[in-house]
Formats: sequence, structure tokens, C-alpha cells
Amino acid sequence: MRRLRLVVLALLVAVGLLAPGAPARAAQDLLFGGGAVTGVYFKAVLYACNIINRYSDGTYNCIGRPGLGSVFNVNAVSRGLLDFGFVQSDVQYQAFNGEDEWERKPLENLRSLFSLHTETVLLVTRAATPIRTVEDLRGQSVNLGNPGSGARVNAEQILELYGIDIENDIRAEGLQQNEANQALIEGKIDAFFYTVGNPAIAIEDIADAVEIRIVPIDSPAVQAFVAERPYYVMTEVPGGLYRGVDQGVVTYGVNATVVTRAEMPDEVVSDFVSMIFENLDELRTSYPVFETLDPATMMEGLSAPLHPAAEAWFTRQGLL
Ligand code: GLU
Repeated sequence: MRRLRLVVLALLVAVGLLAPGAPARAAQDLLFGGGAVTGVYFKAVLYACNIINRYSDGTYNCIGRPGLGSVFNVNAVSRGLLDFGFVQSDVQYQAFNGEDEWERKPLENLRSLFSLHTETVLLVTRAATPIRTVEDLRGQSVNLGNPGSGARVNAEQILELYGIDIENDIRAEGLQQNEANQALIEGKIDAFFYTVGNPAIAIEDIADAVEIRIVPIDSPAVQAFVAERPYYVMTEVPGGLYRGVDQGVVTYGVNATVVTRAEMPDEVVSDFVSMIFENLDELRTSYPVFETLDPATMMEGLSAPLHPAAEAWFTRQGLL
């Protein structure tokens, strides 16, 4: 009988129900939303979660999720379906301030944390098509990006700036980026828009498979549009990054930012930002897009208020 009691006791200790010290606590899941599997957001959430999981001593179980992109992420974070998410700086601005898609229903609980890399709005075609300017898209089959992506937001605004009607002037597709890559290679579409950090594997893969051209997005209307908005900047896709694209190509860019919601506990936010910033070197060496990460520029491009715990941590570090 005594023996049986000892066995039961040992079993209870083993399963953690009667631990002699502090009771073992299950790790807290943190869901971090990225983008298409061939994009940069998904890489970023995988590397970031890897850092959180290795340095948090079992406190967190951070899960990097592939997803539909900025618009989806910002809505999912606000509603509590994701804890953290990547979102383009322009989409962050629109969502928090109740513009465009969020007119009259701003995401008031959205809180920003930091920026990571810069992204450029790309218009990619095969070198063999006659498409050399945005104007030339008329009559062609063009992927705008899947609904839920930030890329699609940019594609729609560019076509509007050029007076190209989506319904009547082009054959518009709404493919996810991995499908769009294949479709461009196989000639099923003539061009696609994609807003992404460089060098993106998605673009490298296509450039290795077919001759490509990146088309400039630059007109007086585009320049005025960018100048009026603090979250856009005219920039260049550097030459020499993708096979066959030797010269820089003018376009505009955004910041890839990380957001959460006001309800996220201070302790979690403080742990999250401190672990990322204290291990930035690991992120820098993990992937070429992150090579130039700089804490000072990581404070830029944020239009939703900082989460108070992030603000407190950045202040203590002298970053604000
Ligand atoms: N900027 C893109 C979007 O929001 C995603 C880019 C990426 O996955 O790296 O749709």
C-alpha cells in the first residue's frame, strides 16, 4: 500500500501536478503573421520566432504563420486572431486613421512596435513582353496580388494614378504570389505587381527561370502622390540584385512594420521587443534583406501609436 502511494506520488510529480518547486507552466503561444511562403515577411516571422523561442527559456512558443499579407494581418491582429503581424507602413496608416478600406471603421486598438526592412513596389514582366512603362499594361493580363495583400493596395493605387481602369483596360488577376510567379514564367500572365523587400527569393527564382524586366513606376502623378504621404518614399530597386536587371529601377517604397494591439500585456510586449533588439545581429546575418537593420531607422514609418511597453523599453535604450 505504501509502495503504491509512492508510485502515485512519483507519477504526479512526473506529470507536473505536484511539483516540489514552482509548478511547471505551459509556454504561452504567440502567433506572428507573415505573408506568402516565397516572400520576406514569412522569413522574418520564422527568424524572429526562432529568436523568441531560444531566448525566452520556455516562456513563449512563438509560431510564425504564412498568410495573405498586410491587410489580412492588420485586421487579424486587431481582432485577436494574431498576436503580432507584419504590415506595410501605408496600410498601417490607413487602418489606424480609418482611410480607404477602413473608412468609418478605423482599427483604434492597433499599436505599432517597430519597422524592419524597406519594401519596394515592383512591376515585373518577362523581358520578351512589350511592357516598358505602366501605360503599356493596357490590354495585358496583370496580377494585382491576392485580396488581403498590401501589394494589391499598391497595384490598385498605381493603376488609378495612370488612369487605367481595372475592369476594362486590363485583364486583372488576384493570384497569391507563389501562383503569380509560376503564371509569369509559363506566360499565363504578362506582368505582376508585388511590394516586397529586396532581394526577394520570389523574384530571384523567376529571374533565374526566364529573362525578366522590372518596369519603373515613376511619373509626375506618382511623384506628387508620394510627396503628399509621409509613409511613402521614391526609391530604386538596386541594379545587379536580380539576373538581367543590371540598372537601378525607379519606383516607390514603404517600410515593413510590426504591429500588435493595445490589449497585449505589457510584459509580453516588453519581452518581445527586447529579445528582438538584443539579438539583432542574428537577424542581420540570417537573410540578406535584414543585413542593414539599424535600431534608429527601425523607429520610422510607424503611424499607429507605439504600444506603451515598447515605448518604455525604447526610451530606456535611448532610441526615442
Ligand atoms: N508587402 C507584401 C504584402 O503586404 C508582403 C511581402 C512579403 O511577404 O514579404 O502583401
